Amino acid sequence: MNRRKFIAGTSLSTAGVILTNNLPGCSSVEQKGKVSYDIMKDVMKYRKIDAHCHPQDDLVKQLEIADRLGISKMQISNPVTNFSGTESEGPDQVRMHNDVVLNAMKKFPDRFIGFFTLNPNYRKESVEEINRCVDLGMAGYKGYTQVKVNDPLYYPIIEKLTDLKMLVFMHTFCQLGMAGYRMKYDIGRFPNTTLPEDMVEAARRYPEAMFHFAHIAGGGDWEYECKMLKECPNIYVDTGGSNNEENIIDFAIKHLGEDRIFFGTDDCYHHGVGKILASDATDAQKQKIFFDNYNNVLKKGGHNVA
Ligand SMILES: [Zn+2]
Repeated sequence: MNRRKFIAGTSLSTAGVILTNNLPGCSSVEQKGKVSYDIMKDVMKYRKIDAHCHPQDDLVKQLEIADRLGISKMQISNPVTNFSGTESEGPDQVRMHNDVVLNAMKKFPDRFIGFFTLNPNYRKESVEEINRCVDLGMAGYKGYTQVKVNDPLYYPIIEKLTDLKMLVFMHTFCQLGMAGYRMKYDIGRFPNTTLPEDMVEAARRYPEAMFHFAHIAGGGDWEYECKMLKECPNIYVDTGGSNNEENIIDFAIKHLGEDRIFFGTDDCYHHGVGKILASDATDAQKQKIFFDNYNNVLKKGGHNVA
């Protein structure tokens, strides 16, 4: 990293704060004439689909933020996270979670692309829930930490999603290594979290399926992730997450190519946009990442944006 890039990256990263203070009249980030870069012009230059969002309590506010950043569509899912460790993860809970997404889709059909979640431990109920959600217009699947994506419990789900030409979008993680020692996923609470190598195994078993590895900027070892996923052309990644380290986007392009990266925020909107603008990607690459790559995949199942 050089100093110029650090400063450019930092000013884009903090653009969220500046935007919030100056909107709606904000059209440039200028500090007493020192910086002439027109950030809002750059922000609004690209069509955008956010490939990783979750429905917020206040949908109107969520869409206002999207509007300011020129995000026309947001893919939303509501997996059962069980962060507390005491939440039910059964079929009733799954349906309730999907209903939140369905309600958001109903309220703002032009803005939200809904993905359903499942708990694959419940096989019969999972098939029923896929049918219900697909009938109601959902466009893909988002899995969480109940079952690893390479577990045989996932086989029928992956096969069904492949028939529907829908993405197998998984919450994923990969801990940072320390001094050459790679920690395994050993914190005990969510032992079935999908790791990069798990998705690679599933993607090799089902080369015709389409996999989406969540949030490379979600706090994991993104260098390791990109290197692991490199050889599987049917695995896509999104750029979401609250981490904003220099070089994530450029590194992903270098290893995965410009066609397998989706713009995603995981609800970290301003720096989600900023980190792509701050990358060395060309205009054409940015347009692919912000919009075309995801839209092309949605198109296979007939859920693309016109
Ligand atoms: Zn997320």
